[in-house]
Amino acid sequence: ASPQEIIRGAEPDSGLRPRRLDEMVGQQDVIERLKIAIDAALGRGEPLGHILFDGPPGLGKTTFATVIPAEMGTTVQMANGAGLTAPKDLVPYLTNVSAHSVLFIDEIHRIPKAVEEYLYTAMEDFRIDIVLGEGVNARTLNLELQPFTLIGATTRAGMLSAPLRDRFQIREHLGWYTQEQLCQLVQRNANKLSMSVNDAAANEIARRSRSTPRLANNRLHWVRDYAQIKTKGDVSLGVARDSLDMIGIDKLGLDKQDRNYLDTLIRVFAGGPAGLDAIAHTMNVSGDTLEDEVEPFLLRSELILRTRRGRMATGKAFTHMKRVPVKN
Ligand code: ADP
Repeated sequence: ASPQEIIRGAEPDSGLRPRRLDEMVGQQDVIERLKIAIDAALGRGEPLGHILFDGPPGLGKTTFATVIPAEMGTTVQMANGAGLTAPKDLVPYLTNVSAHSVLFIDEIHRIPKAVEEYLYTAMEDFRIDIVLGEGVNARTLNLELQPFTLIGATTRAGMLSAPLRDRFQIREHLGWYTQEQLCQLVQRNANKLSMSVNDAAANEIARRSRSTPRLANNRLHWVRDYAQIKTKGDVSLGVARDSLDMIGIDKLGLDKQDRNYLDTLIRVFAGGPAGLDAIAHTMNVSGDTLEDEVEPFLLRSELILRTRRGRMATGKAFTHMKRVPVKN
């Protein structure tokens, strides 16, 4: 294998990412709308309108950004908002776009204002004006770009400025997956990995995956390793439970970090209200990580509440953590 194949093979999710819209699980209404937009654009021979995806991590934003160009028969360049710190970082991507191809910018809420302004003319008129040199010697270079499609992804739609948000013709929110959808995903991917997983086990893996395809795939990979060593391969309900217990994934699908959050809120802050920063400092992790990766599922599971005075643990959280609320 070439070094590139080795690197690609090392990706934990290798081989499981869908390549076409029909291989994707769930998000049916999003997929239907995208199919119409794609067929209409292809029919007119025009680039697809710019698309913004928002939603928690692991729900399929990057997957859509790779599947859409495949459906259009075009290529995609991948960039990350965190890496686009100055306009010059954007230029190579924009000058590399071919007609009707896709430029994907993940974490688009992280691009600074100066870069964002370049995107406006690029998105609207397929043109950028680059300033070369400084002071009296400065001159502006007008660059015509090929008509392209920008796909942006963000976990924080609210952090995007209105002018940028409004330049996306299609805006889609990706929501959590149902138990049935994740179970279908687990069964399909178990097949791809040549595993034998019975229905009860697939259901259990799905139930402990926090409504998130990425986590379902991660858990499935771990269960495969465990079964290979402990049971010569077959995955029953007991094997699924034991293997997930062993890496600290509990019945609700919470991992150690999720429980550490609840434990901090309940034990250190007596159930809250506590500010996000205070919780983050106590746990010694960044507030962004908590806000993006931990809190969304805890909120949706009604384990915590966000109030104006801070985060609060619910009765369900106390029960789950086997703690008794302190009356004050
Ligand atoms: P995001 O970009 O939103 O963080 P990704 O698109 O990287 O999430 O999804 C993580 C993984 O989960 C993908 O590699 C893919 O294998 C799987 N996945 C996500 N959404 C779906 C889906 N709708 N159908 C099947 N697999 C999915």
